[in-house]
Amino acid sequence: MMVQIHCRLRIVGVGLLLGLGMVLPAMGVAQAAPVVERISMQPNSDGPGYLVRIQTSERLQAYSQPRFVGRNQLEIVLFNARVSQACRRDAPGGPVQAYTVEARKNHLVLRFQLDAQLTVKAEARRDRATEDILIGLTYSGIPTASAPATPVLHSSALAPGDERARWRIDTIVIDAGHGGHDAGAIGAGGVREKDITLPVALRVGRYLEEILGVNVVYTRSDDRFITLKDRGRLANEAGGKLFISIHANAARNRSAQGTETYFLGMHKTDAAERVMERENSVIQYESDPTAYDGLNEKTLIEQALAQSAYMRSSEQLAGLVQQQFTGNVGRTNRGVKQAGFYVLWGASMPAILVELGFVTNAQEAAFLQSENGQIYLASAIFRAVRAFKTEYEKGLDLGMAQ
Ligand SMILES: [Zn+2]
Repeated sequence: MMVQIHCRLRIVGVGLLLGLGMVLPAMGVAQAAPVVERISMQPNSDGPGYLVRIQTSERLQAYSQPRFVGRNQLEIVLFNARVSQACRRDAPGGPVQAYTVEARKNHLVLRFQLDAQLTVKAEARRDRATEDILIGLTYSGIPTASAPATPVLHSSALAPGDERARWRIDTIVIDAGHGGHDAGAIGAGGVREKDITLPVALRVGRYLEEILGVNVVYTRSDDRFITLKDRGRLANEAGGKLFISIHANAARNRSAQGTETYFLGMHKTDAAERVMERENSVIQYESDPTAYDGLNEKTLIEQALAQSAYMRSSEQLAGLVQQQFTGNVGRTNRGVKQAGFYVLWGASMPAILVELGFVTNAQEAAFLQSENGQIYLASAIFRAVRAFKTEYEKGLDLGMAQ
């Protein structure tokens, strides 16, 4: 059962490495960034909803999926892009009440203020014919009154204070691995990974809420199955600023032990690849495993570039988690590693995957199941997040003061 999936993933993995080798050098300073020339809005022609079309001078290499960054506020990032002075912009229409285009480093951030009376789902895709970026807005619920079109906001309309608040780590998504009919790894004495990840996840969340006062969103808070795609989608819709996926490890070698923390990256070792394959193989439990077939080489490269904006932060957070595990909880340090976990692809925010220890090691399995063990591990993750948040927000204040 696992073997078929392994083969497919390995092919994707190799393609990804080759593909990135070709794309990344092209992202250097030598190449002119595509210029946004037109932003148009129109009702969707093939179904209910609304369509935002972004036309660029040449093919845009990467863009993020739209995500909610506040109540009714949707954001999409166009990587390595500029906006032209002559850019033609349609007045807001449909569920969009206002929108801004703002340059941030080499990227463009588009923000849409949506009608509060509508529940809107948003998805970005590339138009096959024109290569324009299309943002599909589908909505349920009918507006009670037709709101008059409001003028386009300019970026100066946002005070620096608002801007700072927007980037603060105020919402953290905690993802308990596996659940429902997916037990995860089965270890010594029949211990199931899903029964360890949930109490540790809930405990981390509780500490974050009670001590740091941040908003915590769980992808699951009970024993239920959630697809890997939905975990990322939930995180984005909740406006998460950090994504922490919690798992437990397994190995044929019963003496293997220790913790390791992953972020999404291309430089994976064989050992990291085995962990990635095991965690990605969860899709066999999903009703439509072919949903990931769409993750072809091209999409993966685009998503890798999109996540690369968060790669350094993700690596930093992973390092802090490992430091806590080894320094304060006395776990064996297997290090910070990178690999292509599906569950991390979808989250448009710094994202890590923590392997708490091996359920296949009798001693470690006992520790993972014990309340004390879970308190130690959850506290370690909590302290790492607290340190990360402090450092990150200090940088934010400095950056804004300049
Ligand atoms: Zn797992």
